[in-house]
Amino acid sequence: MALSVVDLYTRVLPRTNCKECGFPTCIAFAGMVVSEKHPLKNCPHIPADVLESAEEELEQQYKEGKWLKKDMAKEALEWARQKASSMTLKDIASRIGGNLETRDGKERIRLPCFNKELIITPDDVRDSAGGQLSRNEQTFVYIHMAQGGSQEPSGRMKSLKEFPNTVSKILSMKTHVEDPLKKEFSSKAGKLALACEAFGGKDRKTAYDSPDLAYEFAAFPKVPVVLLFWDESQGFEAEVKLLFDETVILHLDIELIMFLSEHLAGMLMELS
Ligand code: SF4
Repeated sequence: MALSVVDLYTRVLPRTNCKECGFPTCIAFAGMVVSEKHPLKNCPHIPADVLESAEEELEQQYKEGKWLKKDMAKEALEWARQKASSMTLKDIASRIGGNLETRDGKERIRLPCFNKELIITPDDVRDSAGGQLSRNEQTFVYIHMAQGGSQEPSGRMKSLKEFPNTVSKILSMKTHVEDPLKKEFSSKAGKLALACEAFGGKDRKTAYDSPDLAYEFAAFPKVPVVLLFWDESQGFEAEVKLLFDETVILHLDIELIMFLSEHLAGMLMELS
């Protein structure tokens, strides 16, 4: 039986996003293994028997050319379609909050995502300038399409640890999101504010008393994320916290929440 990116991610990899394989997330690594024959053994945390059997399956599908490079995004969409069998562009648009439109006789969705607008067609997802998304971004969007709930955000924002089953991710959030942001922007609140605005953040300082900065981002129309920043002061280190609407787990699983957090941190550092 062939192993898709999602099979590899859910059945073989530990899903800890430890980065020891050189990729920022397990799903990014899975994408490279399935689509570009990246060695599975580069993840050192797979039990030997599981590794052996997965490598046999991969060898077979590589021979058949299945899911190699060009078809990876399509495969994620196929999985997404299986999971949401009634999915049509019209359903998706109303569920996740995109705008359905017709161009040249074909339906497509315009979906805001941070500072971009994405164009989703049955075969592809690109930014509005026609640029391709990375495979990670494509997988993120397609999985959101499949599992996204329809509920509107409630406005009640929570930190990751307030959601169920997140204990194993708290350290990842600190190590891969909060600490790098603290290091990058300590004593540079102005620089962080500029990066937030460049990445589509809206100033929400009036809604929060204690932090020096508060910016809200729309990862997707129904997935707001708030970044709070306390700059270093009088011997206290800078602090960073991300907050998610309490409905986020209806739209994204914990892995995708981590993916979006790391993506946000990475983009802010890049923009600075
Ligand atoms: S080494 Fe890579 S694939 Fe393995 S658990 Fe860590 S991040 Fe995931």
